[in-house]
Amino acid sequence: MKFSPEKYAIPDVPMQPFIDTGEIWGFLNKTVSTPGRVKEVIKKSLAKNRLNLEEVAVLINAADSGSMQLIKEGARELKKKIYGNRIVLFAPLYVGNKCSNNCAYCGFKTSNKDAVRKTLSDEELVREIEALEDNGQKRLILVYGEHAQYSPGFIAQTVKTAYSVKKGKGEIRRVNINAAPLDIEGFRTVKEAGIGTYQVFQETYHREAYKTYHLRGKKADFDYRLTSLDRALEAGLDDVGIGALFGLYDWRFEVMGLVRHTNHLEACYNIGPHTISFPRIKDASMLDLGDEYFVSDENFTRLVAILRLAVPYTGMILTAREPAKLRNQLIQFGVSQIDGGTRIELGSYAEKEQGHDLKKGQFRINDDRSLNEIIDELLQQDMLPSFCTACYRLGRTGEHFMEFSVPGFIKRFCSPNAMLTLAEYLVDYAPERTAEMGWSVIEKNIHLLDEKAQHQVREKIGRIKQGERDLYF
Ligand code: SAM
Ligand code: SF4
Repeated sequence: MKFSPEKYAIPDVPMQPFIDTGEIWGFLNKTVSTPGRVKEVIKKSLAKNRLNLEEVAVLINAADSGSMQLIKEGARELKKKIYGNRIVLFAPLYVGNKCSNNCAYCGFKTSNKDAVRKTLSDEELVREIEALEDNGQKRLILVYGEHAQYSPGFIAQTVKTAYSVKKGKGEIRRVNINAAPLDIEGFRTVKEAGIGTYQVFQETYHREAYKTYHLRGKKADFDYRLTSLDRALEAGLDDVGIGALFGLYDWRFEVMGLVRHTNHLEACYNIGPHTISFPRIKDASMLDLGDEYFVSDENFTRLVAILRLAVPYTGMILTAREPAKLRNQLIQFGVSQIDGGTRIELGSYAEKEQGHDLKKGQFRINDDRSLNEIIDELLQQDMLPSFCTACYRLGRTGEHFMEFSVPGFIKRFCSPNAMLTLAEYLVDYAPERTAEMGWSVIEKNIHLLDEKAQHQVREKIGRIKQGERDLYF
């Protein structure tokens, strides 16, 4: 698909800021949403087209219950038809929480003297990764505060360590990063370490609001953060993740900001974001925020459905910040990746005592189900948990885009690979009850494949049962 740039008030130039606050408010204030228009926009999205800002405003401004229902149903249909029933699983791993910024919402802010500061030593990092592998994890996102100690070289070294640890049948096959913006040279350094996605969240796309939350430190520079993924792409990374922290400003503006960011990357680099994240503010040690922009569950569900429709080709991540019940619901509206067995206190995967301590973590998580409990619940809903990393390792980059745009891709690659990685989990880590449910879900999914593919998947599963690992299409 060739992306065609739209014309916005600020033209898209690589490495240049692109958010025009007045323009976004203009779209939100002037766009009229009728049930007929909502239907047209959903139709465009279901035909696999990314929506422009005016069309997203149509969905955001829909006020009647019928239209809101249509939006949710549209997102559900898009998810089901295009992506099927897979959910990719990963775990966050906090490497260090020293931070020289003072973000009002974050437990790691420099002014929080209550925070217990820690950077994992090499040995501690290895122990954490071993504990994650013992649970069956294959995909990690490493998370860091913004601090001189967490240089590109340091980040690259921790990534290499993550790939090198192999315990039993365990190994980490994909390491993503959530860290402060780097310069181009820095992005090159982490690229060479073999990272998957580089995530940077803009937090809020509203320049004035941004200022009030980020009074000091490097993060106070709105434009440097806004253009960080431009630098990543200039450095040759082709896999970047965007996000906004919901609760800092009007959620409608943030949805428009995320889509504008998407348009910018498409226009300048002919590539969209690999993933979109939409964390909602949670309680944190020394949290210092009003609730003016609090996003209710209802609006949160709405915005997830709108984002699904707005950027149909992008992966959507929903983390354990949200409670299990809401996560189970939102999976239906287009979320494609969730974390499982999440611990965010530094060093806590390897600890026996598993309690939460707000002073040791960045914020409070609300879903502390183990990875296996999550897999059980996904299987009960007939979803297919996946640890697949095949595309990335075979150089089929832009994988999410391919599964979305190449006809038959999901049946040929994604579903079989999801089944193979689930089969590995069932053989290596699952208790009996999970294994029973898992094999039955795999069997149901095999039947959806054509005969040749069925045969190939069964042959590979046979080899996994004999002890081979890391088989994929
Ligand atoms: N220090 C890096 C940075 O600022 O980009 C890494 C980010 S931080 C460790 C990961 C993300 O957590 C932030 O970008 C922010 O969106 C989110 N976050 C911070 N405080 C939060 C809170 N109280 N509740 C939910 N999410 C929060
Ligand atoms: Fe530091 Fe990131 Fe937290 Fe801000 S959000 S205080 S930069 S860790």
